[in-house]
Amino acid sequence: MSPVIPIRAEALGCADAPVLRERGQREVFCGLTGIIWLHRKIQDAFFLVVGSRTCAHLIQSAAGVMIFAEPRFATAIIDERDLAGLADANEELDRVVTRLLERRPDIKMLFLVGSCPSEVIKLDLSRAAQRLSQRFNPGVRVLNYSGSGIETTFTQGEDACLASLVPVLPASAPSAAPELMVVGALADVVEDQFARVFEQLGIPARFFPPRQAGALPPVGANTRYLLAQPFLGDTARALEARGATRLPAPFPLGVEGTLAWLAAACDAFGVSRERLDEVTRGARERAGAALARQRVQLEGKRIFFFPDSQLEVPLARFLSREMGMQLVEVATPYLHRQHLAEELALLPADTRLAEGQHVENQLDRCRAAQPDLVVCGLGLANPLESEGLTTKWAIELVFTPIQGFDQAADLAELFTRPLTRRLKLAA
Ligand code: SF4
Repeated sequence: MSPVIPIRAEALGCADAPVLRERGQREVFCGLTGIIWLHRKIQDAFFLVVGSRTCAHLIQSAAGVMIFAEPRFATAIIDERDLAGLADANEELDRVVTRLLERRPDIKMLFLVGSCPSEVIKLDLSRAAQRLSQRFNPGVRVLNYSGSGIETTFTQGEDACLASLVPVLPASAPSAAPELMVVGALADVVEDQFARVFEQLGIPARFFPPRQAGALPPVGANTRYLLAQPFLGDTARALEARGATRLPAPFPLGVEGTLAWLAAACDAFGVSRERLDEVTRGARERAGAALARQRVQLEGKRIFFFPDSQLEVPLARFLSREMGMQLVEVATPYLHRQHLAEELALLPADTRLAEGQHVENQLDRCRAAQPDLVVCGLGLANPLESEGLTTKWAIELVFTPIQGFDQAADLAELFTRPLTRRLKLAA
């Protein structure tokens, strides 16, 4: 059996392709949305949104399907009367936090999550977090970040949350041996699979964020980190400021992306390609067979991405290279050229890339192109469906476990399902 061959771009792909930059009306959720998956990840953390009834409504309806005996997020509502006095707002916040922590001794980490209204009244949540951290130290650590909707995308909430955690990561010893940090919230099932693979490869790996507030991974010059999500620019910067080094790689979507992602870790830790081949062969073969079945339905279909999750470029790479789809347009809210360099090199050279949003212009281009499938936010999906286009909600891609070999077919199925549904409706 030949060893694993690292993936290569035939040419330079889209690495140097021109990008259409758009500015205009945006149709996106705000960063508060990240709470929906982050509260499931860090199991003893609590997310207290300091915001309005609109904020409360957003996270409750986004999390509407989940019913908890002890929820791990809530909204401290800023009423109009609070606008009159900042001192009152701070006192009220302290009262809410004190009541919450007295009632819930299971909370070990509390995030005060800023919102548009808290920014409007200039409530200094970092100062509040410091004050409350001192008061509840050492039992509870209080941190803050902004999930405000001004100029954000919904996945930026995770970036802001993780960036707020980086300064409190313990420092690794100067002489510590190199260690791998996998950065970005992954579903537990995916994390467990990757943890097993890294163990078999003999690579010491830690995951960030951790499942427990007390299990923060150490960071320092010995840290080599792999991004598991493409929307973590601030977190990456903060980790590098603490001495960590990023391992450039595509993202672990599909067989090819997952293999290349693992290969980047192997190269950094001196693990041979033969060993990588041996450890991953079974999972790759299973995934390859499952993808072949999905490919039948996707091959040759034309897909259009509206900018939403920041996952668009890696998804486009997976769908074009492994599923044979044609990329009509790949738009993303922010194009992080450095973090996406390996992905861009793998896209077809003529891919139309767009950064930012001007929703009317994009809708015009989409209607003119009449793609087989449109990936977009919830707000655009219904109108486009009513015009006869088939859509996929981008947000589902963030809520669903899609990374790794074992999830590759599930990822493909997220795109085949709307096409099948449309066929059934038409029958
Ligand atoms: S943070 Fe801003 S955009 Fe998000 S729900 Fe609250 S008011 Fe709306």
